[in-house]
Amino acid sequence: MRATVMYSAGDVRIEKVADPQIIEATDAVIRVTRACVCGSDLWPYQKMERSDTGRVMGHEAIGVVEDVGADVRKIKRGDFVIMPFAFSDGTCAFCHDGLQTSCIHGGFFGTPEVAGAQAEAVRIPLADGTLFSLGVHADEALMPSLLTLSDVMGTGHHAAIIAKVKPGKSVAVVGDGAVGLCGVIAAKRLGAEQIIILGRHADRIALAKDFGATDVVSERGDAAVEQVRALTGGYGVHSVLECVGLEQAMNTAISIARPGGAVGRVGVPQEQTIPGSEPAFYNNVTVGGGPAPVRAYIEDLLPDVLEGNIKPGRVFDRTVGIDGVPDGYRAMNNREAIKVMVKP
Ligand SMILES: [Zn+2]
Repeated sequence: MRATVMYSAGDVRIEKVADPQIIEATDAVIRVTRACVCGSDLWPYQKMERSDTGRVMGHEAIGVVEDVGADVRKIKRGDFVIMPFAFSDGTCAFCHDGLQTSCIHGGFFGTPEVAGAQAEAVRIPLADGTLFSLGVHADEALMPSLLTLSDVMGTGHHAAIIAKVKPGKSVAVVGDGAVGLCGVIAAKRLGAEQIIILGRHADRIALAKDFGATDVVSERGDAAVEQVRALTGGYGVHSVLECVGLEQAMNTAISIARPGGAVGRVGVPQEQTIPGSEPAFYNNVTVGGGPAPVRAYIEDLLPDVLEGNIKPGRVFDRTVGIDGVPDGYRAMNNREAIKVMVKP
């Protein structure tokens, strides 16, 4: 089959690789219906050291089950499934707590250990725990939004949950990438009254407003902090969704939280320490977050996707075949595309 292999920063190739096979009796193999490129794929795209073997990329997909191992009980051949970006057994203490990204037998797709989904097919470890079956088919028009439940929409929702978004409260979303945009959807869905998006790309801002953003702040640093304060009676917001991962974004996030507020961070951090420790301390700001347990959120979010109440699939503004994936990375990295969908 054909798959996306990254060899080093900027070096993404489409290559013929071995078809995925059942290795463990708890595995499944799915034929990928849709996959996509994640903002977090851009970190290795910018920084990865050269690897001779390369890494099959991609951790977001929906697809159809082609094969299951002998011990797979719930998932069946022909099932149409959502593949969360982390695999999990569904049975350990952390899976029971709804934190499948910390599953004691779990791990992540698109890593050196487990091949990714920007490919024609993918092997799914612990299929019964990992996959969410949607039955046998789904409406073509719903595919993009269903795909977002594998990561980006669940991640935006996680930021909102950790930031304690509540009805009637004020929210700021730091970052206008696909996760930030889904964070706006999540904040609106959870009843926030004021939603301030911090971003500067006209197309993304327009989409954020469609999704429910009430205010836009396009400055950065101190100017952004001042603007958010001005929009919130001088206090700052109750909840901040940090969807970037860079030091400046985190400093801004903490500075715009009102005393007693919370920051939900889902941007993959690029530093070893959390910036803004002192202002967070003196303002009693709660800082939390991490990889979103999207597997736990599918059940919550799916009805609103199926009923069309939320349309997170609108974050995809470009669709490519498998051969177009390297150009998709380039386009996302150059901010020419918000998020690229792959139709193998
Ligand atoms: Zn587990």
